[in-house]
Amino acid sequence: MIRRLVAGTPLLIATHNKAKHTEFITLLAPFGIPCHSATDISLAAPDETGLDFAANAQIKALAAARASGLPALADDSGLTVAAMGGAPGVRSSRFATEVGGYRQAMEAIIIRTRNEPRAAFQAAICLATPAGETATYVGICTGTIAPSFRGMYGFGYDPIFIPVGSSKTFAEICEIEKNAISHRARAFRQFAVAHLVTAPC
Ligand code: IMP
Repeated sequence: MIRRLVAGTPLLIATHNKAKHTEFITLLAPFGIPCHSATDISLAAPDETGLDFAANAQIKALAAARASGLPALADDSGLTVAAMGGAPGVRSSRFATEVGGYRQAMEAIIIRTRNEPRAAFQAAICLATPAGETATYVGICTGTIAPSFRGMYGFGYDPIFIPVGSSKTFAEICEIEKNAISHRARAFRQFAVAHLVTAPC
């Protein structure tokens, strides 16, 4: 079992995605944990060969912890679309690359979801130690695919995802609002309860 990370314990954020890195820094801010980034230490991105989000998060966190000698936090996440049998799922990033970019990927998803718009963002967050211990937490945010792109915030598929209970896409809400409900924040909160200590007021 991985011990709690007390304030001052350095943590490597094992992502090369700048937007995800920023989300993690915001979520970790109240806990006094100094964060290092994967790009600071020129960490190579491992192949994501896992069949689900949790397996890929573990691959990334373990590779980062072993390479850096620090506890490492990684996530694997993506958009699952009911009308596409759960795709693009773990292939969300690769799907966008294959079709020529996020604009094309979102257009393809909009076309396929006109009659069945249900979708969900899913995230697995894994904390790994250099000794090879891991702890993994999963978060899901359900919603629907919007009929057109909306909003300027966020990244990836945010302009077409409307979370349940909202009329706005993820790209129309600010970071604070997204962090209250997002898949990554839901997984992060479980990680925080298990491994972080809130600084005394
Ligand atoms: P990963 O870095 O392999 O986990 O790639 C996850 C991909 O899923 C990202 O590149 C985005 O395409 C998509 N994704 C995951 N989380 C979000 C989000 O919060 N908003 C928009 N797209 C996301």
